[in-house]
Amino acid sequence: MSAQTEADLLATVPSGLFIGGEWREASTGATFDVIDPATGEVIKRIADASAADGMAALDAAVAAGPGWAATAPRERAEILRRTFDLLQQRIDEVALVMTLEMGKPLAEARGEIAYGGEFLRWFGEEAVRIAGRYGSNPEGTGRMIVSQRPVGPCYLITPWNFPLAMATRKIAPALAAGCTVVIKPAELTPLTTLFLVSLFVEAGLPAGVINVITTTSSGTVSEPIIADPRLRKLSFTGSTPVGRRLLKQAADNVLRTSMELGGNAPFVVFGDADLGKAVDGAMLAKFRNIGQACTAANRFIVHRSVADEFAARVTARTRELRVGRGTDDDVTIGPLINEAAIDKAQSLVSDAVARGANLLIGGSAVDGPGTFYEPTVLSGVQAGSEILREEIFGPVLSIVPFDSEDDAVRLANDTEYGLVSYVFTADLARGQRMIDRLETGMMGLNVGVVSNAAAPFGGVKQSGVGREGGLEGIHEYLETKYTLTPDPFA
Ligand code: NAP
Repeated sequence: MSAQTEADLLATVPSGLFIGGEWREASTGATFDVIDPATGEVIKRIADASAADGMAALDAAVAAGPGWAATAPRERAEILRRTFDLLQQRIDEVALVMTLEMGKPLAEARGEIAYGGEFLRWFGEEAVRIAGRYGSNPEGTGRMIVSQRPVGPCYLITPWNFPLAMATRKIAPALAAGCTVVIKPAELTPLTTLFLVSLFVEAGLPAGVINVITTTSSGTVSEPIIADPRLRKLSFTGSTPVGRRLLKQAADNVLRTSMELGGNAPFVVFGDADLGKAVDGAMLAKFRNIGQACTAANRFIVHRSVADEFAARVTARTRELRVGRGTDDDVTIGPLINEAAIDKAQSLVSDAVARGANLLIGGSAVDGPGTFYEPTVLSGVQAGSEILREEIFGPVLSIVPFDSEDDAVRLANDTEYGLVSYVFTADLARGQRMIDRLETGMMGLNVGVVSNAAAPFGGVKQSGVGREGGLEGIHEYLETKYTLTPDPFA
């Protein structure tokens, strides 16, 4: 990929805020730099919204609300579908923009677009199936009508690790339900969202239905939006600490909320598992997205009878991973998002080793430019190690042995998180017991990736509230209205 190709593409990505159907500069004229984590270089300068810009975006979403809610579901569906088609046509460009701002290998960026694009198609299909109920009350004295209405203007906040899919997973159901939105992507990866929104515009989206604010002051810009009584819904994907803070702010307006928060996924391998499949699953569950996924396996809980062999096999596979800039051929591990991510990975590895873990491969940052960390495997990780409690968010695979099924369940559930769990076993009854016993919103049984637009994605415990995708996803943006009328024959 030539530097000129990259520069030419980046020049086509909008650099402004998108409010009321117009691209505009920040009201203060402020801008900020977007950086390629693989080189540390500035790749684009874009508008830095103020709190006033955030309120202008909310004004636009509120103004467009009634018109969009009254738009025929088929028309809403067609716009989502046209955007899906445009995304497929432009997949190489969107993937490159994503890789440049976030770092993931190009093949993974394309994979994210395939996954994230599906939300546009899926919720386009759901838009025309929003249904209610009609029937007699049990007493026979009246008729009960249950209908679904759009909740109203929504504020969507997305993280940097899946810049496209986290946006489509919120925008698509909101628009399908008839809601208008303000979206705030992460400061670190705003370009993919700006590109996506330009495709919605090309697909014929009316002004004000989607508004985008990019900012370096997420708290200052978000607080007045969340405090405004015209806002009806807050949907957030990000870390649990920020989610908690936003839930407190949302409580003042009794806002509808969806919270997709952090994870600490256990990956349990029983002695009877097909070890080859478990290793394949482990490599995906751990190293996809450079380990920076809420669904990334964080703790490999492996039966003592196979723990050494599992460790040897994943170490051999880890040795084959190729670290580098995501735009380069054959690279499988891009950079971490920033220096703070490197420091976190290093401190978790050092703590685990100091407490007795064996470092089988990796364990150090790679010299810059760029923020790279070696793919790392630790075995024999001891209870009490920070790495078992914290979300690693990096390419570090840590193995803990266990002896009995009860042990495995206790270790797996020993976390405040409950997003996803992975279990590998050849014993069907054991697999079914694990479905019942693990405290988790999602589970991969003999698979290392569960995400699918047709499935309800979300967590229990401190991993969040609500579900995105599946039949459930659109209901996060709908209100149920019940009406009673007298028996028309009385
Ligand atoms: P983060 O620091 O919580 O940020 C997420 C988003 O919230 C960003 O847009 C951020 O903006 C914004 N934000 C931060 N502080 C805010 C505040 N006070 N008010 C309003 N907005 C605020 O998380 P991250 O580091 O971007 O993402 C990684 C985390 O997301 C991990 O914990 C991961 O597990 C979680 N995640 C969860 C899911 C899921 O579906 N459950 C999916 C992906 C990621 P700025 O960055 O611009 O400040």
